[in-house]
Amino acid sequence: MKIAVLAGDGIGPEIVAEALKVLSVFQREGVDMELESALVGGAAVDAVGDPLPATTLHQCEVADAVLFGAIGGPQYDTLPRHQRPERGLLRLRKALDLFANLRPAQVFPELAAASTLRPEVVSGLDILIIRELTGDIYFGEPRGIRTNAAGEREGFNTMVYAESEIRRVAHWGFQAAQRRQKRLCSVDKMNVLESTQLWRDVVTEVAVEYPDVVLSHMLVDNAAMQLVRNPRQFDVIVTGNIFGDILSDEASMLTGSIGMLPSASLNARGQGLYEPIHGSAPDIAGQGKANPLAQILSVAMMFRYSLERPDLADRIEAAVRQVLAQGLRTADIAQAGEAVVSTSVMGDAVVAVLQRG
Ligand code: NAD
Repeated sequence: MKIAVLAGDGIGPEIVAEALKVLSVFQREGVDMELESALVGGAAVDAVGDPLPATTLHQCEVADAVLFGAIGGPQYDTLPRHQRPERGLLRLRKALDLFANLRPAQVFPELAAASTLRPEVVSGLDILIIRELTGDIYFGEPRGIRTNAAGEREGFNTMVYAESEIRRVAHWGFQAAQRRQKRLCSVDKMNVLESTQLWRDVVTEVAVEYPDVVLSHMLVDNAAMQLVRNPRQFDVIVTGNIFGDILSDEASMLTGSIGMLPSASLNARGQGLYEPIHGSAPDIAGQGKANPLAQILSVAMMFRYSLERPDLADRIEAAVRQVLAQGLRTADIAQAGEAVVSTSVMGDAVVAVLQRG
């Protein structure tokens, strides 16, 4: 197993260090892993003037998986666009053709009170949102700002999906549902957008290959409502890039804890990039305050989806549940009056549970 490790900026290096402790537990048990670190984001701009240096891209291309921390920071916001840290991540996603973005939103029972929704609405919540990541209106051409015949400026973008782009992410949706509660909800806006009429048609065609999965369709405006009204009705949601962008952020906030949520972005070969959903948190960087659990849970996803070791994924997820049950809390998930632990104490606690088991 070859893993490229890209820690990035801000809290990235701090939380990736905790994820590496978890990996070293498995290495000591004899799991054969080759880890190679590389620069990305602002750290790479500082070192070589490029947020995705060619050496880093090559290391990612030859790896089975990329473990990614976070990138960005206010000191990079005024750089020319091509040098901004985010460009590095976008280029990496595009170069590896990471078209399927998997975002679980899970409420751990101990943290149900952290949600802005009532605990009885969210407790036990376990949704997986699969967002198509390389197509749709974010990439469609033509696009731009022009002056129209009336002499007025107008902005325009193109919402476009090829059948093959829909089909491949739909397969991911059905296969993920097969591993879970076997329910897939496809989200579109077919009543007004032709490209999403095609989305619905193609997903329905793919469904024939998965008779064990129950497929439903929902319009995106209704899905946004249902996610706050009764989120537990969902198992797996599959949707296009722009709807998925918005719905996955909405769903993750149901859990109330940005520092807990991992993500995976995969290509057709099963190669994947694994990262927390949060950013580089410059406001708390270097203070030992960051919650490392989203990064550690990203390692679990890496074992499940790219490295074919679901057993190790299960162990990591169980260890995280156990440290929460023991009462360990970083500042972001602590309730008033609860004692707070540092990034490394939280990581060490997960390692201790793994070593015991
Ligand atoms: P952010 O996710 O970094 O932080 C939002 C808030 O959540 C902050 O208060 C932060 O302290 C807190 N937070 C985030 N992760 C945490 C953790 N693990 N533990 C405890 N608290 C945590 O979002 P932002 O402040 O809008 O962006 C900061 C920088 O990150 C920007 O430069 C942005 O461009 C970048 N960013 C990068 C990614 C990425 O690397 N994929 C994603 C989003 C934002």
